[in-house]
Amino acid sequence: MRRAPSPLRSLVTLALAVTGVVLAGSTGCATFGGTPDTHEMDSARGAIYDARRAVFVNARRLERKGPPWKAIGQTLFGDAQTSPEGEVPIASPVEAWKSPPASGLRLTWMGHSTALVEIDGARVLTDPIWSERASPSTLVGPHRFHAPPAPLEALPPIDAVIISHDHYDHLDHETTVALAAQGVPFFVPLGVGSHLAKWGVPADQITELDWWGRAQVPGTRVTVVATPAQHFSGRGLLSRNQTLWASWVVRGPQHRVYFGGDTGLFDGFADIGRREGPFDASIIPVGAYNPAWREIHLDPEEAIEAHRMVRGGVLLPVHWGTFQLGTHDWREPAERTLVAARAAGVVAITPLPGAPIEPTTARADSTGPWWRLVDAVAALLGDGVLAGR
Ligand SMILES: [Zn+2]
Ligand SMILES: [Zn+2]
Repeated sequence: MRRAPSPLRSLVTLALAVTGVVLAGSTGCATFGGTPDTHEMDSARGAIYDARRAVFVNARRLERKGPPWKAIGQTLFGDAQTSPEGEVPIASPVEAWKSPPASGLRLTWMGHSTALVEIDGARVLTDPIWSERASPSTLVGPHRFHAPPAPLEALPPIDAVIISHDHYDHLDHETTVALAAQGVPFFVPLGVGSHLAKWGVPADQITELDWWGRAQVPGTRVTVVATPAQHFSGRGLLSRNQTLWASWVVRGPQHRVYFGGDTGLFDGFADIGRREGPFDASIIPVGAYNPAWREIHLDPEEAIEAHRMVRGGVLLPVHWGTFQLGTHDWREPAERTLVAARAAGVVAITPLPGAPIEPTTARADSTGPWWRLVDAVAALLGDGVLAGR
């Protein structure tokens, strides 16, 4: 069985990635986005803006760590199987989307942090990415383990897109432009609107919110609230923390959903739970963790802790299974989430990408550990057993 890519191949990939980023930058590629107006950012009251340095800062000062050599070494030379041998299976949600959810709440995980939240008659899409790569380059950078479960054109009419922050795996240039062309309103943290504006999204489709800022989704009875997260931002080498990062609350008259975005474990989860919870379901990141960047990404056990702090209801673990961004085995986030959830008495649902699920009425065992089969099937195919040779 093939394990991690060879060190030489990894080094070549890394060198190509760096070259690709530099080349893209030198040609003034639009993908990098815009620059926020520092005077407008200085109006932040929920989030903390350091006007002197023109950057947002986390509520708690993060430890300064040296360069993550160990993590880079793990990526290049470790023996973790960081991507699947076989194709990750997907389900098509298109038929199910034609009728409204019986319970009033349905979640469809489309891979990584993209989920369609159908809530009390409204459709809200989180961090949509349909691109092949989570990267400024179309040639290099983390690529997909699976195709998007449905083409963008097959989405039902979307009432709102919510964006957690401007990293490439959460704010995708091409997907944003395509959805904006359909007239979809975007709700983004402070400063992120500058990227959308640069990409030609009309100003009346962009709502920027500070932490604890709230807005009504037009034509629906749903409100979105930007809530704190512990992370960072930036799309280029010189734009670190110029725009805000956030998690989100989606509130309808009957249901509430929490979307964690990208975050480490911090006290803010308790505030979110107290002020906006409890939730029927929470969509929380469980992958791309490493001790070197512990403060800005959750590992599965911390994700369960965060889920309990926000009073999250049923847990849909995301930020795994689509792009290789971590140094761990690609299946490890799901396995550890199941174990930690069981120990904590939390119901975690792990649908296939594209399989719609109604969290408040789903049976706890309705989603199986499908990822265990992916590499086994690939190995059988490789041996010719399933290919009939
Ligand atoms: Zn991020
Ligand atoms: Zn991310």
